[in-house]
Amino acid sequence: MHSFMQIEEIIRSFWASHPSNSLHLATGEKAWAEPQVAIARGDDPLFLRNKELIGPFLWTPEEAYALAFPEAPAPGAELRVISYLLPQTPETRADQRQETTVPAERWARSRFHGEEFNCELRLHLAATLTQAGYPSVAPERLPDFAYRRSERFGLASNWSERHSAFVAGHGTFGLSDALITRWGKAVRFGSVVSRIDLPVTPRVYGDDHHAWCLWYAKGTCGACAKRCPIDAITTGSGHDKDACFTYIRETTTPYATATYGTGATPCGLCQVKIPCEARAPVAL
Ligand code: SF4
Ligand code: SF4
Repeated sequence: MHSFMQIEEIIRSFWASHPSNSLHLATGEKAWAEPQVAIARGDDPLFLRNKELIGPFLWTPEEAYALAFPEAPAPGAELRVISYLLPQTPETRADQRQETTVPAERWARSRFHGEEFNCELRLHLAATLTQAGYPSVAPERLPDFAYRRSERFGLASNWSERHSAFVAGHGTFGLSDALITRWGKAVRFGSVVSRIDLPVTPRVYGDDHHAWCLWYAKGTCGACAKRCPIDAITTGSGHDKDACFTYIRETTTPYATATYGTGATPCGLCQVKIPCEARAPVAL
């Protein structure tokens, strides 16, 4: 049987050695700092709660697994969701802190080249475990992965890396909707659903999805709201996804494409120069 440390080793050795973990700069620096891993049960009730909140289109781990292995589906209790995060490097965060209206070059590169690496890492982890006898799937890489409209939350995908990370114990949501983890908010997530028996990561915040945000916990901070150039985050109503999406589509994406030659949809100004940039706020 694979242990948690073996899972970590699969992820970390790929992170350490794979050439696509790169910002594709002359410096040769990696796209990401060292990955961190957490594990959720496939039948954790929070997956169903998320589905009820977000919409029926959101897959549970059991549903995502069944899409990949329709001939041999498995009950959620036999599945684990391996959720990992990839922190932005200190250099990328430092550059991004200088920006006020558009993303820094390193940030745009990690969003584009770093996410390409993340896609390869998802597939590598799923394939490695499947070959070892533990059938596994990266839901975000399934052909049916898509964005839908949630009645309550607007644009939402049918597999949420952030919500999986929350269930797995990585951290809780902040005022800006991003997940505040022990390694902060300036991170990206990936996950794999595997038919494997692994110990589950303790979720120290229980079911409280806002526990680590200073605004929700104490009514202080609001720093992420001040970082957004178009006021798409407010202490009154949180994150305006549609305004954010429009700014990214109409402003930051064309800027990054023209200036840095990157694709994808970078912004993330609200993820740095805040108390939860690289850690859960000390006050908590
Ligand atoms: S910057 Fe402050 S208000 Fe915004 S998510 Fe972080 S702790 Fe919460
Ligand atoms: S990602 Fe969205 S909410 Fe955050 S700074 Fe950019 S436009 Fe504002």
